[in-house]
Amino acid sequence: MKVAIAEPHGMCTGVARALEIAHRTLDEHPGETLWCFHELVHNEHVVAELQQRGAVFVYEIEAIPHGARVLFSAHGISPAVREAALARNLDVVDATCPFVAKVHAEAKRYAADFFNIALIGHKGHDEVVGILGEAPTQITVIETADDVKALQQSTSERRLMVLSQTTISEAMYEARVADLKAAGFEVEEPKALDICYATRERQQAVRTLAQHVDCVLVLGSRNSSNSKRLVEVAEREGCRAHLIAAPDEIDALDLQGVQSLGLTSGASTPEALLEALCQRLEATV
Ligand code: SF4
Repeated sequence: MKVAIAEPHGMCTGVARALEIAHRTLDEHPGETLWCFHELVHNEHVVAELQQRGAVFVYEIEAIPHGARVLFSAHGISPAVREAALARNLDVVDATCPFVAKVHAEAKRYAADFFNIALIGHKGHDEVVGILGEAPTQITVIETADDVKALQQSTSERRLMVLSQTTISEAMYEARVADLKAAGFEVEEPKALDICYATRERQQAVRTLAQHVDCVLVLGSRNSSNSKRLVEVAEREGCRAHLIAAPDEIDALDLQGVQSLGLTSGASTPEALLEALCQRLEATV
């Protein structure tokens, strides 16, 4: 079986930066608990490594003792969480990715100019929840065509600013913008779109790869938005694709008849995991 790896793949600068901040903070305060608000990045291997070093992951800011040190994840947080941290006198270390911070800044700025903002993204994702908090009465999360219909029925204002989650597929973004225009909205977009460079480059690379192989394996966690999008992009090219969270998950896959296999990994997947997957493939197929 021939194996090809998508380029680029794997860890992006935003995740590498968040990890560097986390490890530096742990180095500078040995023996002290580092309270992490939500998963630093969506990868269970990264989370487990930080837990071994003394990081504790919590999902409520009230779970953190007054005056302790908190790390905000690469996905960003809402202003309400930041205020709650201030009220608890927490020592804040912020690992929000600069590309996510850009969308927060836009949400704040455009909320002053636009009555409505459409945030194209996946409901409930940490990043979307944080951005929504910048202007909750003006931002509507648009995930499906039905969300566009609901927005159309709920407002008479036609001017609309469109922002997006950084890790959605370009196809989803284009489809929802087309739906909004078809629903009669006068759509405006930021000069530089919000889908980040890492997401776009990895999607383009897997799109090309999927055209030349029988099957694509994406190595990434099941709650990683960008990893799930890589599977969808490969499938859209008519290629069989699977998301696996760890190298040993290939044992459960039926790769009979696959003569060429494409590999890629999500933006929060450590390179060592992909190397381990390659070694396992060499040993088993
Ligand atoms: S995927 Fe993009 S937005 Fe998310 S951490 Fe990486 S660079 Fe930042």
